[in-house]
Amino acid sequence: MECKTCDALLAAYKQAVSLYTNAGQSFRGALGDDSRLALKELRRLRQACKDADNALMAHLHQDHWRKGGVLGPEKEILSIKEVAEMLGCPSSHVRNLLNGKVPNVPRIPHLRSGRVRLIRRVAVLSWLESLKQATAAARAAGR
Ligand SMILES: [Zn+2]
Repeated sequence: MECKTCDALLAAYKQAVSLYTNAGQSFRGALGDDSRLALKELRRLRQACKDADNALMAHLHQDHWRKGGVLGPEKEILSIKEVAEMLGCPSSHVRNLLNGKVPNVPRIPHLRSGRVRLIRRVAVLSWLESLKQATAAARAAGR
């Protein structure tokens, strides 16, 4: 996938993280007033990391994931609603599946970005496949 905005935002994020990491190392051992200043600076740099991360996520949500866009003809990352449509079940059930709250059913592997769930299409497909196998095995065992 090629996107100049992604590249720029990712570079900014990496830059912010490396600044924060380096600062963390060089400030270690600072004492007295210095350490107070150092802490303030560290906090500022940590916030910069979060801001850069948020900017990247916002861009991904807006310009890629919602449209499918550069991620391919089929969306690679699905929302809870989209997984619900794919499985033909209510969103509330998908939420339970993601949280591993459905008895005897493995949870659907996914990532989180803040409050947003990032569910990869391939993860849902392989989860479905493992479910089919488990069901077939249970049936063969006469359960
Ligand atoms: Zn982009």
